[in-house]
Amino acid sequence: MPIKRAEKTPMPVREAGQRAHDFQEVNAGYSEQHAAFEAERCLRCQDPVCVDGCPVNIPIPEFIHAVAIGDMAGAAKILRTANPLPAICGRVCPQESQCEAECSMTKRFNPVAIGHLERYVADWERTQPLAVTANITHREKIAVIGSGPSGLVCAGELARLGYAVTIYEALHAPGGVLRYGIPEFRLPKAILDWEIGILKAMGVESVVNVIIGKTLTLDQLFAKLGYAAVFIGTGAGLPQFLGIPGENLNGVYSANEFLTRINLMRAYQFPEADTPVRVGKRVTVIGAGNTAMDAVRTSLRMGAEEAMIVYRRGEKEMGARVEEYHHAIEEGVQFHWLTNPLEVLDDGSGWVGGLKCQKMQLGEPDASGRARPIPIPGSEFVIPADNVILAIGTTPNPLLTRTTAGLATNKTGCLVADERTGLTSKSLVFAGGDAVTGAATVILAAGAGKRAAVAIHEALASRIK
Ligand code: FAD
Repeated sequence: MPIKRAEKTPMPVREAGQRAHDFQEVNAGYSEQHAAFEAERCLRCQDPVCVDGCPVNIPIPEFIHAVAIGDMAGAAKILRTANPLPAICGRVCPQESQCEAECSMTKRFNPVAIGHLERYVADWERTQPLAVTANITHREKIAVIGSGPSGLVCAGELARLGYAVTIYEALHAPGGVLRYGIPEFRLPKAILDWEIGILKAMGVESVVNVIIGKTLTLDQLFAKLGYAAVFIGTGAGLPQFLGIPGENLNGVYSANEFLTRINLMRAYQFPEADTPVRVGKRVTVIGAGNTAMDAVRTSLRMGAEEAMIVYRRGEKEMGARVEEYHHAIEEGVQFHWLTNPLEVLDDGSGWVGGLKCQKMQLGEPDASGRARPIPIPGSEFVIPADNVILAIGTTPNPLLTRTTAGLATNKTGCLVADERTGLTSKSLVFAGGDAVTGAATVILAAGAGKRAAVAIHEALASRIK
């Protein structure tokens, strides 16, 4: 079928029946011809509102124009200057509610596929030789706690500004959620490793298996190790639970534990890898955000015959990226909308046997602005299940704040930090990403890391004057 100008150039994808059983990337990426065609769809508006829709204000028409005229090096430079993680954001950003939602083409047709073009340019860039070197010009050294997108971007920007930077990471490999949460079939680890390789070439040092607040305190980073400033990018990795009966049964996981066992600890290679994960035939995942979608699709790849989402609101209220939702449907995931879990049932041997639920209807909007789910009396029913995975949200881990005097948090446990600079209540301690906002997105974390790097530079420069 010929591709019409009104339509987005579709992303080539691997066939659903095949990809649902392996961990290889689902999206195959644009060809040169796809990219050239899609770039031509951009109207190059006088007032490019798409740029306002991007949390880091990428000059979108400029990079797309560079693609259209075949200037790939120019496109890559424009992109990377605004967004230091383009190959990652091109794959995982919720473009449909950001830049593409604002695209002028949306009013009459489909938006320009800005995310697919971003990915195309960034993937081209990865085929080129690395053009960065370490250039440390300042004597002050900076510590970054956490190696998720906020920490990586903050470290990269500080290195670019001439600082010696060390990232301290609690886990045994850097990347944060990009490594332990988002699965290989959406974000290949080779891409993350390439980005981390750039930081290494710029002189950024990574120290893994160090928990700040336990192995070392934050204050020791200043007093003992001589850092001049610290950036906290520790994320929001503490899972929430429902508090319903049966939540402690064998076979119940938090999505973070489930995904970490598989993505980081390679449980899919057990017993060659040390960490097991038991995935039964019927897996229910509670929640409908990106984490839930990753968990349910991962369970299929781990051998589940039936994989289900259970969500107390409706499809419209779902938080996951639209693309992941469509891919999940194609792969055979079932959806129980307007369904509230009441109890995890015991199979008689201490393992999960089912999930007792009740049907809901939607009422007036609640504090979150979304329609409030209201139970329908007498609508209880049981979904037979071998595993229940909870993906209902996360909060920041309190370990660091509990061991650091003077580090203010708000009532949800997030760090209090200045929106523009990331400065916390503690002198020369900055923060950004999910640790400040609560669970959010990669691009927001990256943007916060970038702003904090500039603020750290300004704070140090003003002390020297
Ligand atoms: P994180 O990525 O959480 O990284 C924090 C790092 O700090 C971790 O490596 C942690 O081990 C380390 N750390 C924590 N405490 C300490 C300590 N005391 N000492 C040392 N190190 C510490 N967003 C999107 O935009 N698109 C998506 O498609 C998407 N999918 C997602 C899928 C899943 C499964 C999950 C969980 C999240 C997803 N998100 C997505 C959200 C996104 O990944 C996060 O918003 C983002 O990673 C936050 O970045 P961060 O730098 O704040 O923290």
